[in-house]
Amino acid sequence: MKIELNIQPNEDLYYYYMNWTARQDNKIHKATCRFCNYGTGSHQNVNRGENGVWVGPFSSLELCVEHVQNTLNFPPNLHACCE
Ligand SMILES: [Zn+2]
Repeated sequence: MKIELNIQPNEDLYYYYMNWTARQDNKIHKATCRFCNYGTGSHQNVNRGENGVWVGPFSSLELCVEHVQNTLNFPPNLHACCE
């Protein structure tokens, strides 16, 4: 099965990683960050959703920060890739 994500290669997209086992890892990432990899993450051997989920994509960092703060009620910490 092929899924069309409708993402342009030059688009700046952002994801939030919501992890309920290690809250210090809850961070906003660029889609191209190796930890995020368009919301697929870097852990190949972990069941998806077992430790956390990726929320996104967001079209801008501002939208992402706003959603994390106001809807999810988490501090919108940025990963090094966004700073
Ligand atoms: Zn990152």
